[in-house]
Amino acid sequence: MNSTNLPGQPQLAYRGNALFCEELCLSDLAKEHGTPLFVYSKGSMLSALAAYQRGFAGRKVQICYAMKANPALGVIQVFAEAGCGFDVVSGGDMDRVLAAGGQASKIIFSGVGKTRSEMQRALQAGIGCFNVESEAELEVLSDVALGLGLVAPVSIRVNPNVDPKTHPYISTGLKGSKFGVAHDRVLQTYQRAAILAGIKVVGIDCHIGSQITEIAPYLDAVDRMLDLVEAIEAAGIPLQHIDFGGGLGINYNGDTPPSADELWQKMLAKLDARGFGTRQLMIEPGRSLVGNAGVCLSEVLYLKPGEQKNFCIIDAAMNDLPRPAMYQAYHQIVPLVSSEEAQQTWDVVGPVCESGDWIGHDRALAVKAGDLLAVLSAGAYCMSMASNYNSRGRAPELLVDGNQYHVIRTRETMADQMRNEILVGSTPL
Ligand SMILES: *Cc1c(COP(=O)(O)O)cnc(C)c1O
Repeated sequence: MNSTNLPGQPQLAYRGNALFCEELCLSDLAKEHGTPLFVYSKGSMLSALAAYQRGFAGRKVQICYAMKANPALGVIQVFAEAGCGFDVVSGGDMDRVLAAGGQASKIIFSGVGKTRSEMQRALQAGIGCFNVESEAELEVLSDVALGLGLVAPVSIRVNPNVDPKTHPYISTGLKGSKFGVAHDRVLQTYQRAAILAGIKVVGIDCHIGSQITEIAPYLDAVDRMLDLVEAIEAAGIPLQHIDFGGGLGINYNGDTPPSADELWQKMLAKLDARGFGTRQLMIEPGRSLVGNAGVCLSEVLYLKPGEQKNFCIIDAAMNDLPRPAMYQAYHQIVPLVSSEEAQQTWDVVGPVCESGDWIGHDRALAVKAGDLLAVLSAGAYCMSMASNYNSRGRAPELLVDGNQYHVIRTRETMADQMRNEILVGSTPL
């Protein structure tokens, strides 16, 4: 049978007219489990990880999956089994890693607003490193550690002030960003950290943004970071690791990010040239490990042709796929069964009562009610940002592995949604 791969999505191919993920027919999965439905390819996640591993061959590196991209236990498990560490941004994230079999010593904890209780739990679990984002946080962390009779391993997140040339909401390393310690305050912050009794300095980190499709901002960040490493070590404070964060983009709509191995060959050449190529390195990729491994399947509910616009109303919505509403993001939308019928131009929208609830504008599709569609590149920042808006239950998730699949999350029921709610006057259970 004729097989056609989708560009940039090696796990997806039309066999005849039916779209497959690895060895499984997506229409069959949609019919069995209902829609909306997220389907992830394990093979695609592992091949994205392999691109980083190739880039780092022969080097000392710890790859920490930035799990906020997709925190499903079944996804964490894939990366834990592959030996990854994890970048977490809350105590809840940490609990997920531990529940899925990740090692505490390979957890790094990022985020500008860690609470005392999150710090306590992370110290007691024995995490690998706190990526501290402010001088105030450093003081509190030292205090919390001393209270437990422990010492907190710390890296300071530096704001290198480089422009990643991405959407402003996902650009994090510019002056004026809430993240990291300003470049000109970094040395003083390390000097303070070095004398705090509850702190042990272990590293330095940065993260300049997300969906970055150029190499230049990363190379700028390397230079800015290494200047700081030299200054900090010259002040007598040795650093065990250097962490360059995440942020590498994926192909949503003809985007051409460098591959992970190409990026890291260039980065490592620069590190070598400056004499840092044998250091312990760390990275925190999220989107580039899972984004293109996932699709969201949805059924066409109604067609509503109009004078100005034709609307194709599907059963997935902004609560399942928040990126278009949040960032005007583009996701490709393709049929699960391709057809020879004439295409028309449709705005693909969800059932939620908001004009912002659109999934794709002006898409050429041959569709009718009851057809099934796949929204592509839905593995990152979709389920992780999904909500119950309009009392919609969150979709189930399947993990495909060759010709098998595992249900890694069942569909959320109304009982799940109402679990913590109490009618006034009733007796709590
Ligand atoms: C979000 C985030 C990442 C991952 O970013 P991606 O663009 O998904 O690779 C890494 N590190 C930190 C600190 C983050 O906040």
